[in-house]
Amino acid sequence: MPTHIHARQLSLFERPNKPSCVPKGLPFSSREPNFAHKLIKSESLRHQKPRTNVVLIMRPIQLHALFAKAQSLDGIGPKLSEKLTKLVNNTVERSDPRVIDLLWHFPTGINDRRHRPKISAAEPGSLVTIEVSVTGHVPPPPGNKKVPYRVFCADDTGEMELIFFRGQKNYLERMLPLGEKRILSGRVERYGAKLQMSHPDHMVSEEEFKTLQLIEPVYPLTAGVSGKIMRRAVNNAIELIPELEEWQDAEWLKKQKWRGFSDALRTVHQPQELLDLLPIAQARKRLAYDELLASQLALALMRNSEIKGTGRALKMGNGLRNKILSLLPFELTGSQKTSLEEIYEDMGSPDRMLRLLQGDVGSGKTVVAMLAMAAAVEAGTQAALMAPTEVLARQHFHEFSEMAEKASFSVALLTGREKGKSREALLAQLKMGELDMLVGTHALFQDDVEFADLGIAIIDEQHRFGVQQRMKLQGKGKDTDTDVLVMTATPIPRTLLLTNYGDMETSQLTDKPAGRKPITTRVLPVDRIDELLHGLQRALASGTQVYWVCPLVEESEKLDLAAADQRHAWLQGHFGDKVGLVHGRMKGEEKDAVMKSFSDGNIGILVATTVIEVGVNVPNATIMVIEHAERFGLSQLHQLRGRVGRGDKQSSCILLYQGPLSKTGQARLTVIRDSEDGFRIAEEDLRLRGGGELLGTKQSGVPEFSIARLPEHSEILAAARDDAQLILSRDPTLTSTRGKALKTLLYLFERDAAAKLLRSG
Ligand code: ADP
Ligand code: MG
Repeated sequence: MPTHIHARQLSLFERPNKPSCVPKGLPFSSREPNFAHKLIKSESLRHQKPRTNVVLIMRPIQLHALFAKAQSLDGIGPKLSEKLTKLVNNTVERSDPRVIDLLWHFPTGINDRRHRPKISAAEPGSLVTIEVSVTGHVPPPPGNKKVPYRVFCADDTGEMELIFFRGQKNYLERMLPLGEKRILSGRVERYGAKLQMSHPDHMVSEEEFKTLQLIEPVYPLTAGVSGKIMRRAVNNAIELIPELEEWQDAEWLKKQKWRGFSDALRTVHQPQELLDLLPIAQARKRLAYDELLASQLALALMRNSEIKGTGRALKMGNGLRNKILSLLPFELTGSQKTSLEEIYEDMGSPDRMLRLLQGDVGSGKTVVAMLAMAAAVEAGTQAALMAPTEVLARQHFHEFSEMAEKASFSVALLTGREKGKSREALLAQLKMGELDMLVGTHALFQDDVEFADLGIAIIDEQHRFGVQQRMKLQGKGKDTDTDVLVMTATPIPRTLLLTNYGDMETSQLTDKPAGRKPITTRVLPVDRIDELLHGLQRALASGTQVYWVCPLVEESEKLDLAAADQRHAWLQGHFGDKVGLVHGRMKGEEKDAVMKSFSDGNIGILVATTVIEVGVNVPNATIMVIEHAERFGLSQLHQLRGRVGRGDKQSSCILLYQGPLSKTGQARLTVIRDSEDGFRIAEEDLRLRGGGELLGTKQSGVPEFSIARLPEHSEILAAARDDAQLILSRDPTLTSTRGKALKTLLYLFERDAAAKLLRSG
């Protein structure tokens, strides 16, 4: 079936967020690469025709002017267009800026020229508009370009000097004729006893002054694009804003006191006061809501088309699961049970599973994964579990193989390190269906990894993987798409859930396994490290194990390493060969050996760079030292701390910091010290850092919004999500009057792929 191959091929592109990776001529929104994949797949499944049939631009005609190149505007030539590219297209690589990109380029300040003092009352440093008489011109001495051209002015309260570096005599004499009145606007400074204005922004006659915009928007600028040029470009773009059929619910608009779209967009570019520049200003909020609604509608449409009937109902027995359950040394927690029920139900239904399992560190996600995989095996299919790091994949494999022996199923490990004959043999077994489960890293994506029949794909710690990669794994199913479960330990605030995982159902592990004690967290300045040493001495003597995480130097892995090396040597000086070291540059086997030696208890203190961040499980390690804690993000600290507190012993975490701490630095460490609630920490992190960074924008595929700002707009995001669901439940194909307007909205915010699903639906 050649159409299926297209879908697969597309999903193989490494970085489809770059439009250049999308085959030319395909009408995808460059913002939603994964949608492109979905589009082709669902289109091709529907029509069973080659993809050339779907190459049609369906953007409504009313929007054409907005999507024209900015060069079509007066005063914008190729050179300026190129400079604007840097300015307005900083998120998406596109060759030429378009009219709409200018319109989404919002002002960030205002120049208020209404303040009109007399010369004697003009505050140095302030922006003023002053009426003066021109009293004298002083050109620089011939040949000396360093001396500025000066013009003297006065009013009935005093004198003022205008300064022009490299001033053109003719021009200035024309603009400022001797003896005439002129209105000047610009910033004044005091220079000795004199008031000066250098290069006034405006020099106009009384007549001309009447047409001057007294409150000017100030835009983010770049070299070669002045405020004046930018304002003119935007003003020209504003002329092209079409009147569009309203897509928002009338009641809702009235309640919010929002204006129509075109009105709002114009208003945003005509701020009257500083408040108008805030995300909560009415006009900005309305537009943000438009964008959020478009994105939520798109996600919902995608989800509907992606899961409906594209999976298969697995017929599970329960022999294997019961066996595993009976072999576990513990009872499942309530939320483990609930989550599993939700997962089993998805697996048993003909719709495809796309589920996110959220559970804080230590909440017990691995056993949930194992049982879900066992269910797939019961149904006669295979199961795959993918982890973000080698260390973690090995650890999972270890856990799985212990269980496999007792419960008799087969499991293998595949990472970048399995090579040659053994790899070949493994792949052959996999393809023949002789292997029940496969655990591994990114290596599972490789093209020659073929399953006989993959029933479920589980991805641990999703935020380390891109959405594209998820797509690739699920594409390894036989004829249908494979059920997918994504597990994440980063508690994702609701806001981010909606924007990043809006296409997924979620299950949550809300309770921790019984018997866990709270972790004691202490914040300690690094110059008190000796105190810490004494404590460690006692702890080691009693058989306790310690993680020691070294500072993260983002720019340089080398420095990172040097710091860890040094600390390792220093600790060895105190504790001898009970100290081990593990870092990202180590060879796989070396890393394994160290990790094994630590989990066997032969190493007492494990010095590590952040390679241990995700998922490592050594219950006997109950002390976590984090050096330069101030350099880590909140969520990262929370993850690291989650390495301890896994057994029934009292655990502690020591955050060493290098003072002096900034205010936010202090605030962050306090949050960590006082809370073990991953959700609260994530919310704080979002507040302190913004959403993109929390998940790592590039990797997580956080949709880039042009207008909406998180968390400022999280409230209306939730509303947009509810709105989208209501809309689609009433009018799933968007054919009503409002539905048609909403289709235009989808195109306006470049959710083309989603809009096209409607065309064929
Ligand atoms: P995470 O969610 O961080 O991946 P793990 O799956 O590594 O957590 O589980 C952490 C530890 O808790 C493991 O040692 C695991 O065996 C144990 N565990 C998981 N579920 C339970 C439970 N219901 N009761 C007691 N211990 C559990
Ligand atoms: Mg885990």
